[in-house]
Amino acid sequence: MSNQNGRFGLHGGQYIPETLMNAVTELEDAYNHYKDDPQFVKELEDLYNNYAGRPSRLYYAAHMSQDLGGAKIYLKREDLNHTGSHKINNVLGQCLLAKKMGKKRIIAETGAGQHGVAAATAAALMGMECEVFMGEEDTKRQALNVYRMRLLGAQVHPVTSGTGTLKDAVSEALREWTKRIDDTHYLLGSVMGPHPFPVIVRDFQAVISREIKQQLLEKEGRLPDVVMACVGGGSNAMGAFYHFIDEPSVRLIGCEAAGRGIHTAETAATIATGRLGIFHGMKSYFCQDEYGQIAPVYSISAGLDYPGIGPEHANLYDTGRAEYVAVTDDEAVEAFEYLSRIEGIIPAIESAHAVAHACKIAPSMDKDKIIVVNISGRGDKDCASIARYRGEDLYES
Ligand SMILES: *Cc1c(COP(=O)(O)O)cnc(C)c1O
Repeated sequence: MSNQNGRFGLHGGQYIPETLMNAVTELEDAYNHYKDDPQFVKELEDLYNNYAGRPSRLYYAAHMSQDLGGAKIYLKREDLNHTGSHKINNVLGQCLLAKKMGKKRIIAETGAGQHGVAAATAAALMGMECEVFMGEEDTKRQALNVYRMRLLGAQVHPVTSGTGTLKDAVSEALREWTKRIDDTHYLLGSVMGPHPFPVIVRDFQAVISREIKQQLLEKEGRLPDVVMACVGGGSNAMGAFYHFIDEPSVRLIGCEAAGRGIHTAETAATIATGRLGIFHGMKSYFCQDEYGQIAPVYSISAGLDYPGIGPEHANLYDTGRAEYVAVTDDEAVEAFEYLSRIEGIIPAIESAHAVAHACKIAPSMDKDKIIVVNISGRGDKDCASIARYRGEDLYES
């Protein structure tokens, strides 16, 4: 889907310091070699099935469908994976690749800690050293995940530069990689950064749409009409979209975090409010201030508050192949509570953004139409903050 220079239309590329060129070239060569290597493919499939718990279920949400009174809604249950989200698909793939490349050490960035925990998990499994860069602000807000990473044998480095959040953690991890590339792989957590990361992460996440296609064919004998997923950097959405991109009858909808609204400063909706720019090694859309500096972003969902979007999404938007909508905190919280009550499934607050949009469009669709909503993760991690949003203090931090 990308051409040889790692471009998606005018997006993507490799805007990186000279010192990193060798590392990304080595990674690209290794990936091109192993991705079709039968032994590699078999080992990864074994990890997906026996460690991560794949294939994840495609669940017909009968109560929700009936209650909304329109399209049939299926939920792709990535929340049932080991470590509770789609992130395990990417970390197992990249860790296995790094190991084949002879790397001994993994570095990773994390925001809320979800990717850091997944990276530490894969590193523990494969006997590799793991160091995670995390904004200092985030280490305080997400103390439990810091503990989890340490429990899994990883070292966590608080990052104090900038605003001490996710974007600064990515910058620091890129910097650290330039210092030590011989034995170190940078395990990037979403479909972003310099080529080949957007391609590698998308390919490892594409297992999601491969399974949806097959599972829905078994259940309904046809393709879905709509596939939707939440978008932070965009990895779970790219994974859910990928095998449908060449199926023009399937509408693809990415749900961004509007935060308190796209007309406020407290938003993380990149497509709705961002502009073309270059950051973290790629050309894409970014939330920026009037001087072109990366703007601070906000969402109730820590996993969606990245100020950019992966280059393949930027291109899917430019070409009109996918649509992007913005969902507010209020709408997401309501959907979080709704899905819990009506189906007994507590979704991650990130995933609840996609659930909220399904609730908006399903009622006006015919009963024979089918929507698949990717449930990127489970919501246990969000209970304390949603309770606080509703004015209840669970005495957790
Ligand atoms: C990290 C995360 C996201 C956002 O990341 P993408 O790369 O956009 O998928 C969404 N949902 C959950 C549960 C996450 O942990």
